[in-house]
Amino acid sequence: MQFQLYVIFRCERLRSIRTLIDMKLRYNYRAYPDASQRRALAGAFGCARVVWNDCLRDRKEAHAAGLPYVKSGDLSKLRITQAKRTEERAWLADVSAVILQQSLRDLDSAYKKFFDSLEGERHGRKVGPPRYKSKKDTRQSIRLTTSAFSLKENGTVYVAKVGNLKVKWSRRLPAAPTSLTVTKDSCGRYFLSFVVDTEPDILPDLETESGIDLGLSAFAVLSDGTKIASPRFLRRAEKKLKRLGRELSRKVKGSKNRAKARMKVARQHAKVAYRRRDWHHKASTQIIRDNQAVYVEDLAVSGLCRTRLAKSVHDAGWSAFVGMLEYKAALHGRTFVKVGRAFPSSQVCSACGFRDGPKPLHVRQWTCGGCGAVHDRDHNAARNVLFEGRRIVAAGRAETLNACGALVRRAHVPAQRGEAGSPRKGQPTQAGIPGLQAREHVNSSP
Ligand SMILES: [Zn+2]
Repeated sequence: MQFQLYVIFRCERLRSIRTLIDMKLRYNYRAYPDASQRRALAGAFGCARVVWNDCLRDRKEAHAAGLPYVKSGDLSKLRITQAKRTEERAWLADVSAVILQQSLRDLDSAYKKFFDSLEGERHGRKVGPPRYKSKKDTRQSIRLTTSAFSLKENGTVYVAKVGNLKVKWSRRLPAAPTSLTVTKDSCGRYFLSFVVDTEPDILPDLETESGIDLGLSAFAVLSDGTKIASPRFLRRAEKKLKRLGRELSRKVKGSKNRAKARMKVARQHAKVAYRRRDWHHKASTQIIRDNQAVYVEDLAVSGLCRTRLAKSVHDAGWSAFVGMLEYKAALHGRTFVKVGRAFPSSQVCSACGFRDGPKPLHVRQWTCGGCGAVHDRDHNAARNVLFEGRRIVAAGRAETLNACGALVRRAHVPAQRGEAGSPRKGQPTQAGIPGLQAREHVNSSP
């Protein structure tokens, strides 16, 4: 899901900061449904899936027969309202109609993404047509609007036809949520993900700016020479994941031990993912707090993934990290710029600008053929990213001023799935109703 954000950027001349108009963030919490609620949720996941698959089949068949795209109004009537009256789909009436309508709406937006991608209106990688959902999918979910859920005084969350769910409020909700997604992951855990309209929290201006080089030897190197290494606990967790993977591959297919081993792998995967995300949040918050402007190289991650470096690239999770930098910059009134892929950050001397040609990845240090300066490969790259980022901002500013005389730019900020982070041990559970409380916590935790 992609939200659009209209940002009025800082204007150097006026020194005034306008507010962001609208920004949506996700807040995730772990939920603990009891046995009967788990049954009700399983039914709801199933119904949402059936509506999705029924509607998708209609559209696919219409397409195959050369008929026009089936409108959602028609599908809603046929596959939801009328289907409930048939014997084979009578159980659709047992769940909230909102869930079924949202499932159809999700299918619509999946189709829209696919069509936009076909027409080249979408940035990023190509999006395929929607696919059928299976009971065996690792992640099951339902989506609800405010008419089908509410926050209760006692701290539970009421979900229509499911009941009041017990929730661990790992952090406060800054405002009343506009929608809720309930998911069950491959380890059988339940999560509530609220979408909340958030106002920006503009931080005081700073003079510092940083270029960032995302590397393999260190997680990131800043243009001031700071190296951010991947933390040891993360490397340990990843090692354990590898070991569990090997154990799984030795188990006999279809055996109980294999099922157990698979669950272990899934749990460890989730653990690594949460720890990594949590760490990404901490690192990105720190960088955004410490810098007025942040420049990052727009990495061709999908290109790198085809090479031998694939595993380490996936592990580093750069794109998630860059996404966090991007939305946090927007949230805190910082400048964020991606420097183009074609920019030769590791070939140019950051001291004299001499272009020394490409260097294989194992070359960590080199001496400039122009001025004789000795460079650490990553630090030099980060400095180049900083200079290039500044140049882009200066050029962009001139361009926008020429165009309309106003410094208004439009930016896309992806919705952050992991905004809330994982519930941490030892963290006190918030009591009482979590919604509509002071918003000082929006970004205080990573
Ligand atoms: Zn030089």
